Amino acid sequence: MLRKALFRGVYGTCAFFFGTYSLMQYRVFTRRDEDKLNVVFDLDHTLIHSKDTYDYNSQNNKVFRQPDVTIRLKSNNDDSEHEYEYHVFTRPFSNFILSQLSTFTKLHIYTAATPDYADKIIKKCYGNIQFNKKLYRENCIKHRKDLDLVEGKRKILVDDRNYTHVEGQPFYHIPPYYFYTKTDWEMIKLFYAILIRS
Ligand SMILES: [Mg+2]
Repeated sequence: MLRKALFRGVYGTCAFFFGTYSLMQYRVFTRRDEDKLNVVFDLDHTLIHSKDTYDYNSQNNKVFRQPDVTIRLKSNNDDSEHEYEYHVFTRPFSNFILSQLSTFTKLHIYTAATPDYADKIIKKCYGNIQFNKKLYRENCIKHRKDLDLVEGKRKILVDDRNYTHVEGQPFYHIPPYYFYTKTDWEMIKLFYAILIRS
């Protein structure tokens, strides 16, 4: 009885993943480049969580993992030589899922952060991923992210804040990621949601 149930479980799981993979391959080979879904990612709390050194030291007593990268940024104030240090934690599975999504969608970044902060993090954490377009703080209109600035027919914004999207534009709300989160499967859930939409 137990063996039968186990066999069914394993068989069902394999069939599900094989079916999903086949569906993905079908989409990869049949979609023209201009018809691919454009997936526009926010950065902070969507793909990563970063903390400056002061916050990190004060909150890191019960940390479960070490930062993936640490970046240094000069102060925006030109007459100051002060440098800020940010510890960056990538969201679990984010690199793998982005690389899978890039095979059948077009990926973009749209962040309310500054270009020097965002570019350093993207280069260090997701240097292997091709982002077609990157939009920064100056492209946000009162915290909102206008998908008209991204080329393509079909688009969706993935953001942890539910007020950033322009009304009427497709939006996927992903729960915010914090480095002290014990388990986080949101990128995998997102993958299937995008796959179905593609
Ligand atoms: Mg965010």
